[in-house]
Amino acid sequence: MKTRGLKKTKVNIVTLGCSKNLVDSEVLLTQLRGNGIDVIHESKKDDANIVVINTCGFIDNAKQESIDTILRYVDAKEEGLVEKVYVTGCLSQRYKDDLEKEIPQVDAWFGTRDLSRLLKQLNANYKHELVGERILTNPSHFAYLKISEGCDRPCSFCAIPLMRGGHISRPIEELVLEAKNLAKNGTKELLLIAQDSTYYGLDLYKKRNLAELLKHLSDVEGIEWIRLHYAFPTGFPTDALDVMAERSNICKYLDIPLQHGSSRMLKLMRRGTTREKTEQLLQTLREKVPGIAIRTTLIAGHPGETDEDFNEMMGFVERSRFDRLGVFSYSHEENTHSHSMEDNIPADIKQERVDAIMELQQGISFELNQAKIGRSFKTLIDRKEGRAFVGRTEFDSPEVDNEVIIESQENYLRIGDFTTVKIHSATEFDLTGKPSLLFV
Ligand code: SF4
Repeated sequence: MKTRGLKKTKVNIVTLGCSKNLVDSEVLLTQLRGNGIDVIHESKKDDANIVVINTCGFIDNAKQESIDTILRYVDAKEEGLVEKVYVTGCLSQRYKDDLEKEIPQVDAWFGTRDLSRLLKQLNANYKHELVGERILTNPSHFAYLKISEGCDRPCSFCAIPLMRGGHISRPIEELVLEAKNLAKNGTKELLLIAQDSTYYGLDLYKKRNLAELLKHLSDVEGIEWIRLHYAFPTGFPTDALDVMAERSNICKYLDIPLQHGSSRMLKLMRRGTTREKTEQLLQTLREKVPGIAIRTTLIAGHPGETDEDFNEMMGFVERSRFDRLGVFSYSHEENTHSHSMEDNIPADIKQERVDAIMELQQGISFELNQAKIGRSFKTLIDRKEGRAFVGRTEFDSPEVDNEVIIESQENYLRIGDFTTVKIHSATEFDLTGKPSLLFV
């Protein structure tokens, strides 16, 4: 063993998966710091004697990445670089019993709602006074705000309810407090996240209360952009669109995973809607919020998907002209409803269908971006890259959407500031332009 004697307690939190996991890690980080424990997020050096891995258990690739990360730290433990390895998050929630047997070197496994028990294991206590406080792990000018946990939807292919449990909305007061604290620390953009953000309030307020929440968050001083993610098409609270349309600090942007564009498949996937109703909703979105950018996600290759279904989806994508689109290849997840069906679409056909949709979308994105040439956009500066700055318009979410390359040798720009950029060229994914006005 290289190390002699015990290292001073230091915890390294490693986060895998989605922004909701990132928020959970930030809450853990904040609670540990609040207990006076030395903690770091994603330390590059093996200088922490305790590692907490916050895992993802969504689909195959994500699960494999989580297992590889656990094994990496188990190896570090065997080399004496790490004393304790704890695993939490979705993979642990879903497969704890098997993993305990397969990887006995892990000291303890925790579920997705085990924060207090995990804190105890780390000789810390849950501090209620820290609710609404959060230390960010990404640049502080934008922050994710998790408005609810879990999901009550029956989507056939989805394992998330198995890992995250039923839907629980967070009270408006608590979310406003968190938004105020984030704004105090320099956050200008709030990304509202959930498993299903449009379900917000149905449990707590016995009604869909997203519109009310948006109004309260929009009143928080210092928040210049509020971005809505993970909306669900069925029972969509259109009053939230009225608030989006009337409030200038709510981005004209909506992330709404639709999953498929064939009514037969939407039925098989238990999405509770049809292609026709979905197209009607898209029309309503664009009528109520002119110029809104719509992001969606689709799945290709779900059991039972025929060539006709796929062609219907291609037609749907062509007509809908989404601003941003991601497409996944169906993953056969045990204990989901779809797992009881035969995974009858060969992997190469699934991939062919994914590629065909992305190629179609690439053409649409290119046309939509070409139409932005000559126009100016309020842009939030995320980072510097070489001699240029890189930012986003209100139509782009971090890490998943388009970016704006800002040529600015002569202009003084700062990360986290807004500026107005006049676009002079565009590709299917990015815009390029020069600052035309400084916003401080
Ligand atoms: S709404 Fe989303 S998280 Fe909930 S079951 Fe459907 S796909 Fe899964």
